[in-house]
Amino acid sequence: MSPAPRPHRAAAILSVGDEFTLGQKLDTNAQWLSRRLTDLGVRVREHVTVGDDEDEHVRTLTRLASSADLLISTGGLGPTLDDLTRSALARATHDDLIEDADALAELRRWYASRRRVMPEVNRVQALRPRRASMLANPAGTAPGLRALVGAADVFCLPGPPREMMPMFESFVVPALRADPDRLVLTRVISAVGLGESAVVERLGELMRRDRNPLVGTTASGGVVACRVRYEGPPGPGAHRDLDDILARVRTALGPAIFSEGDESLASSVIQGAIARRLTITCAESCTGGGLGHALTAVAGSSAAFLGGFITYSNDLKQALLGVPPDILLDHGAVSAPCARAMAEGARIRTGADLAVAITGIAGPGGGSDRKPVGTVFVSVTLSGTHGAACRADTRRFLFAGDRASVRQWAVLTALAMLRRAVENLPDAPLVGEVPDDSPEAGP
Ligand code: AMP
Ligand code: MG
Repeated sequence: MSPAPRPHRAAAILSVGDEFTLGQKLDTNAQWLSRRLTDLGVRVREHVTVGDDEDEHVRTLTRLASSADLLISTGGLGPTLDDLTRSALARATHDDLIEDADALAELRRWYASRRRVMPEVNRVQALRPRRASMLANPAGTAPGLRALVGAADVFCLPGPPREMMPMFESFVVPALRADPDRLVLTRVISAVGLGESAVVERLGELMRRDRNPLVGTTASGGVVACRVRYEGPPGPGAHRDLDDILARVRTALGPAIFSEGDESLASSVIQGAIARRLTITCAESCTGGGLGHALTAVAGSSAAFLGGFITYSNDLKQALLGVPPDILLDHGAVSAPCARAMAEGARIRTGADLAVAITGIAGPGGGSDRKPVGTVFVSVTLSGTHGAACRADTRRFLFAGDRASVRQWAVLTALAMLRRAVENLPDAPLVGEVPDDSPEAGP
């Protein structure tokens, strides 16, 4: 097969499976593939999802191939009757399906190496359209397929992400013919502690849609990601323009920026703590371990995170953290004094330098006029050095949304406050922060 000579100016991604059209599963392959292709300078023009329906599949393949230079499909290469990618590709290429002897031998070897006999149903995985080539799958039984549909270069990869990703790297990447006249450069700067509208205000005319590089923002769970994308002719000017815009975004957002690239907020907290030799503990009520989960998701977190407490009931807040019963009686578990006592209890019991506590009402029940659903207190305490008294920073928030959203905001806000303490950043109001006007409010 001689590959199409034209550059891959436009790509389309086709995801195949009833589980997606029925809404039972999220299509993560399209996201991953788009990101990789964009990084590699290929513009993804369309994402399409079809169910396990052969006619629909053939129609969509044909339509996408008529306008894209590169088409990547995932799914439908398994051995069962709903795996229709092989036959759909054969129809779209007006080919018949033949059995590939090498692929069949490879399938038998795959099973033999696992001391199993190949089930007869798997034999269909050795079929390919006559003019298509097979792409070996080192991590599974489904080989991929490559063919030309019209002038479009079509790669059919297996659905499981852990099989699809390495096959993309070993077969698609080397075959890519990026447009020589077009360069795409993308960067992400992530900020926390500012709402999206505050970010947009600070960026001002940097976000004009007629700019290149173009700046866009996406807010998700309290983190605002600023995407900067240059798209145009290659050359030194491209990098200069990108660097210039990045510098202006940095100036506009200042200390709210916690990462450039893929680093999560939790990871920036952990790295900051490791760099300053600080240890961290936490005490969680309404987030039920979500903060500990986020911190321990960071590889190497044990160098800074000691562990924490999930104290959901008042009894455990007293027994494990030493929260005084008076505080619970007079102010309730969702209060600034309780949050502070939880943090202080955790810090003293673990010997950590920094402790953060979260207590709140995630809902849907349990709210009151004075403390509506979404009310959350976060307290950070930092041990004093050289005999100085410990410092505490306790804040009240009112987060919108359902239970999951309140819990997510609480975790994120605790991380933002931790980051501020770790990095010794200047004080500024956080998203969702409200004055604590209750009588017990204090420093
Ligand atoms: P299939 O190749 O259609 O038999 O799919 C095999 C497995 O890969 C199934 O668990 C699918 O749900 C999964 N899978 C297929 N396509 C995707 C996709 N676009 N994103 C995430 N998982 C997928
Ligand atoms: Mg399927």
